[in-house]
Amino acid sequence: MGKLHVVFFPLMAPGHMIPTLDIAKLFATRGVKSTIITTPLNAHYFTKSVERTDQLGSQMGILTVDFPAAAAGLPEGCESLDQITSDDMIPNFSKATAMLQGPLERILDKVRPDCLVADMFFPWATEAAAKFGIPRLVFHGTSFFALCATENMRLYKPQREVSSDDETFFVPRLPHQIKLTKMQVPEHERSESETDFARIAVSMEESELLSYGAIVNSFYELETEYADYYRDVLKRRVWHIGPVSLCNRELEDKAQRGKEASIDKHECLKWLDLKKPNSVIYICFGSVVKFDVSQLYEIAIGLECSGQQFIWVVRRGENENESEEWLPEGFEERMKDKGLIIRGWAPQVLILDHDAVGGFVTHCGWNSTLEGISAGVPMVTWPVFAEQFYNEKLVTEILRIGISIGALKWNFFTVSDVVMSEQIGKAVQRVMVGEDAEVMMNRAKEFKKMAKKAVEEGGSSHTNLNDLIHELSSYRV
Ligand code: UDP
Repeated sequence: MGKLHVVFFPLMAPGHMIPTLDIAKLFATRGVKSTIITTPLNAHYFTKSVERTDQLGSQMGILTVDFPAAAAGLPEGCESLDQITSDDMIPNFSKATAMLQGPLERILDKVRPDCLVADMFFPWATEAAAKFGIPRLVFHGTSFFALCATENMRLYKPQREVSSDDETFFVPRLPHQIKLTKMQVPEHERSESETDFARIAVSMEESELLSYGAIVNSFYELETEYADYYRDVLKRRVWHIGPVSLCNRELEDKAQRGKEASIDKHECLKWLDLKKPNSVIYICFGSVVKFDVSQLYEIAIGLECSGQQFIWVVRRGENENESEEWLPEGFEERMKDKGLIIRGWAPQVLILDHDAVGGFVTHCGWNSTLEGISAGVPMVTWPVFAEQFYNEKLVTEILRIGISIGALKWNFFTVSDVVMSEQIGKAVQRVMVGEDAEVMMNRAKEFKKMAKKAVEEGGSSHTNLNDLIHELSSYRV
């Protein structure tokens, strides 16, 4: 019998493709043949890394399926969620992904792998795997805490018991008392009527229950009570194998995650090398959130008022014809020794891992949050959409390594409320200087140590991945 062969099929979105690549690499370096399925225009996310891993002797490959953009009413070439420009394109994107079941099955038929790890957004993948008699594992891409909170919100619907949008309620039956308002929960959970996404959420849930189990990018020591709750109370079969970003040990691997960075890695490191330890705050809102001009303006003023040094990633101004009206007059000139603006894509893990970085303003996407935890930096939490408001609670109230910017409302692509510069400046100061900052930094450094240990030989995540591979090998026999 040849090597165990696992096929990975992530959602076409950077926040799903990036960790899936890391997971596929982890499997490959443990002697498993790993194949990633993606669409032609997304292959570049994987190529270099797959080639490097393959050259080092682990077996990795990529297969592509065409993305039916036009058939689903999307512009030609729109193959990734970060290319969506308005909320009303989301149903089309979802429709396109639903058309991928046939092409996936043709690949499974041809390559006959031993297991399929498919994204939570592909509920039909469980049925596809079953047709070929192989187990399907689900990859959600979020924390245990968010998985538990989402499930209890779905089961008990506490948001329906409040009489106004800003009245608070508790997420029921969790180990901690977590307070939210209706405005902070995802739209499909807020709505009285059943939305399209609510229907998809139900099929994702059913598909997970019928699948072999799930992989979680987290580590046991970080959210022990929630890892136990997910397994023991919610009765899920699950393997925790993270933080998966820690598999990127070389400079090249850290610098080249996702897209080609908009700044030369050496230039970026040179800038950071000149700064004192823990003296720079890094601001980035992931791959999808795009703030409007007024919000960017407030961030700029807030950063200037905070008096802190910063690296700020802005997904605007990447192409020359976009105006720079979001920058206050003379801002870059005044900030030239203090701040670096990266327009486009930043080498995030490389930056976070640098000693000079001592804080992170994040939208609480789970990858970014866990990368911040792995780097041992306290955070200013600024959730926007998806399960980010839950991740905020984990960081600020359970782990206590961050403070909230005070975002009030769940948004999708169009962020409608503005956080004012004063609030931003104060939050940045609180995580960077003063008593709170030191306490949070010390706790964050402890989690960093635990994260590293978890992925080393004998650590909780390392062992759980070995257990999973062992179990899949037995299943094959
Ligand atoms: N990322 C990056 N450079 C950027 C923006 C994002 O490397 O300029 C990476 C980041 O390190 C993370 C992923 O993209 O791994 C974003 O995932 P996350 O879950 O944080 O947020 P999403 O983009 O899904 O909202």
